[in-house]
Amino acid sequence: MKKCSIVVPCYNEEAALPLFYREITRVAAGMSELDFEFIFIDDGSRDNTLSELKKLASADKRVRFVSFSRNFGKEAGIFAGLEQSTGDYVALMDVDLQDPPDLLPDLYRAVSEEGYDCAATRRTTRQGEPPVRSFFARMFYRIINKISDVDIVDGARDYRLMRRSMVDAILSLREYNRFSKGIFGWVGFKTKWIPFVNVERAAGETKWSFWKLFCYSLEGIVAFSTVPLAFASVFGILLCLIAFFFVCVVLVKTLAFGDPVGGWPSMMCVILFLGGIQLLCIGILGQYMSKTYLETKKRPLYLVRETEEGLQ
Ligand code: UDP
Ligand code: MG
Repeated sequence: MKKCSIVVPCYNEEAALPLFYREITRVAAGMSELDFEFIFIDDGSRDNTLSELKKLASADKRVRFVSFSRNFGKEAGIFAGLEQSTGDYVALMDVDLQDPPDLLPDLYRAVSEEGYDCAATRRTTRQGEPPVRSFFARMFYRIINKISDVDIVDGARDYRLMRRSMVDAILSLREYNRFSKGIFGWVGFKTKWIPFVNVERAAGETKWSFWKLFCYSLEGIVAFSTVPLAFASVFGILLCLIAFFFVCVVLVKTLAFGDPVGGWPSMMCVILFLGGIQLLCIGILGQYMSKTYLETKKRPLYLVRETEEGLQ
């Protein structure tokens, strides 16, 4: 019998966890052609998530968990789950039921019968989300798809089911700054996109503030595009051309009309503008350098404090 691993990162999810477990076991019971394994990653939760997981693991042998020594972020959770998974198929899901477990049979069919390596899901609406956030999200997808070779699908969720070969490919990318949406696209493989209507969180609250999402999107851009690095050169050339034009204007004015050169305010504008552009370019360079610095340290992506193997 083939085996399917379900990987679920959890951070402070004591409220959502029992609901999720009930749903996923109900769906799993309907897919009798598969053996299941549920791998929960406790990402350094400060509530009772870990004790809930222990309860589940001692009652159900299919439940495994990995508890981190602190909060390492969802990306580290995904990586740990994929690394721990032993199934022929691996599904990635959020614990808050925003990734409907009922779609799992569809995902499985696409991979097992229709010849795809991966079945991924995409939200068709952003209903229930603040409009400002939707606006920035859409901008982000438009920009990153312009400046990056990797295809990053708007509205794509991390919810997907993959064949082992694709999971191994993802695990072979050991970078420290992980941007999963880009990594899934980068490894390629045949992916079927399954759309669904946005669902709101079942319990608990979102871990992503606007600011956190903004920083995450910048990380995505730095991780999957080097176009911002060319910004300084392009702007430099442009400014040189403009400067050359003004030199001509000043020369003609002085020689032909004998005008004295005035304009302290315009001088200030130019100085401030140039200073701003230079700082911006240094900032962009700094972003890439700091990421390179973090990569060169080769720190582990996560540290484990406890797993289900410690349970009796
Ligand atoms: N999550 C995590 N570590 C974190 C933040 C979130 O493992 O540092 C998990 C969280 O428990 C959930 C999933 O990632 O299962 C998605 O988080 P959330 O629902 O808060 O994000 P949203 O759906 O609002 O984008
Ligand atoms: Mg959510």
